[in-house]
Amino acid sequence: MAERTEHLEAVLLSAVRPSQEQEKRFLAFLAEKYGEGTTLTWQKSDDYPDGFRLEVGAEVYDWSAGGRLSQFKDALEKLAATQGDVIPLLKETVLSWTPQAMAQEVGTVLTVGDGIARVDGLEGAAYGEVLLFDGGVRGMVQDLSEDSVGCILFDDDASVCAGSTVRRTGRTAGVPVGEGFLGRVVNALGVPIDGGGDIRADGYRAVESPAPGIIDRQSVDTPLETGILTVDSMFPIGRGQRELIIGDRQTGKTAIALDTIVNQKGKDVICIYVAIGQKASSVAQLKKTLETHGAMDYTIIVNATASDPAPLQYIAPYAGCAMGEYFMNKGRDVLIVYDDLSKHAIAYRAMSLLLERSPGREAYPGDVFYLHSRLLERAAHLSEEKGGGIETQAGDVSAYIPTNVISITDGQLILETRLFFSGQRPAVNVGLSVSRVGGDAQTKAMKKAAKTIRLDLSQYREMESFTQFASDLDESTAKLLSYGQGLMRMLRQKQFHPYKQYEQVILLVAGLNHVFQEIVPEQLDAFIPALLQHFGETQGALCNAIEQTGQLSDDQQSQIIEIAKEFVQNYFSK
Ligand code: ATP
Ligand code: MG
Repeated sequence: MAERTEHLEAVLLSAVRPSQEQEKRFLAFLAEKYGEGTTLTWQKSDDYPDGFRLEVGAEVYDWSAGGRLSQFKDALEKLAATQGDVIPLLKETVLSWTPQAMAQEVGTVLTVGDGIARVDGLEGAAYGEVLLFDGGVRGMVQDLSEDSVGCILFDDDASVCAGSTVRRTGRTAGVPVGEGFLGRVVNALGVPIDGGGDIRADGYRAVESPAPGIIDRQSVDTPLETGILTVDSMFPIGRGQRELIIGDRQTGKTAIALDTIVNQKGKDVICIYVAIGQKASSVAQLKKTLETHGAMDYTIIVNATASDPAPLQYIAPYAGCAMGEYFMNKGRDVLIVYDDLSKHAIAYRAMSLLLERSPGREAYPGDVFYLHSRLLERAAHLSEEKGGGIETQAGDVSAYIPTNVISITDGQLILETRLFFSGQRPAVNVGLSVSRVGGDAQTKAMKKAAKTIRLDLSQYREMESFTQFASDLDESTAKLLSYGQGLMRMLRQKQFHPYKQYEQVILLVAGLNHVFQEIVPEQLDAFIPALLQHFGETQGALCNAIEQTGQLSDDQQSQIIEIAKEFVQNYFSK
């Protein structure tokens, strides 16, 4: 600063003219900060009845009562964010606090509209920094160009107009985090929107933060059970894995995510559901559904509805992720669902176009891949040193964006409209879906029980298309077809009816050993619950053993087949 040679003009604002002594002190301050030759002019201003405000170029020193109060407020806020016993700290802060000549960079709004503002004069502003506009409107720097700063606004921009002032805060955007958020619905800034009162935060976390490095991660080795037979048997998801759910509209994507959340009850997994660009009414309904299944106790809903400005929809998944990381760093396991990422990409596209970034393919900006990769990379299975916390993420997308996201995730469940309307629900396309890492996380029992299911089903599908127009089939083909139909029927599962691990094992062992071969598919719908009930009532020890140990011996396997066969006989002879 001292090397600046150009002539600087400083303006001093106050209600009463400074005394000669005071003026001398201001001049000395300016000479020290900006070098000799800075001129000082005084302007009368009734805005500062009890203090001074000094403006030097883009920098402002606020010695007014209001300015000192806001400094003090900042100091208290910083304190409130730290943990520990607050009272002594509070005392100390009050006693040791002295107002400082704090330089503030102040800029002016050039243009504002559609949730975007362009600001002139904030030379030092950093990407991602929070800016404060008139009327308490908050914004975040998203675009740094040579002569101005592009900023997205999180609040209603009614009080902001061209020419109004903007202050830097020096802080990056963040959200409050903590246990208090469980069971609540919050917006993308962590503010409760369920009418349930304030939330006590345990801390504050930056919305954007670097993903854990490779050294900090562990391989995926613990299952995240969805309770959905199709998924757990063929596309197992492990803790730390990112699985994409993809499919046309209304094919049951959200249903799979919700079922998985409901199935985490009593499993010590925290769930975060991030709704992006949905109707407020659908999210309210979803909350009610989770409540009736007792799943809200361990769930946080982050909601940026379709009517929220694009910046809020853009930031929502990162905010949800930050809330999850808080728990992950405490060693807890977290399941986070982003529903959905295509709407997220659309919000980002709208924002980028308004920021005048050049459009690329399908008008998405060039960094749309980075948009999702930096989000999904934050899912991790941390090594024990970091507390062993795990975060599993799932998203939901529908052409260009899905292919991007497929390459970022560790697997995808592909849902099909055709299957959905033929009654095959969940409508998972078994041939195209994959889980790239979850196999390691499957329990031994599940692995053993589900061994041949994918192969058997693919043989069935091949045979089915091959014989579609054939009139008479030989006996072995007919048998294979009816076996396959039985398996497909077995995989149908109603919403909110998750299976326990032992139930899945029993169904798989019985089904894959042709126990259901002679049963008409339609009858299986009623038969399967009856069979599981029979096992639960009469084979408690066996069921418990499988559930607790996750193992399945050959003896247990033959026992299951035998009991199931016997039950078939009794059930259909009645
Ligand atoms: P959108 O594209 O609109 O987000 P979606 O793919 O998320 O839709 P869902 O809302 O999950 O689809 O499901 C669509 C409808 O299908 C819902 O009414 C849901 O109740 C029903 N449904 C989903 N899965 C099943 C199932 N296994 N059994 C019966 N009904 C189901
Ligand atoms: Mg949906």
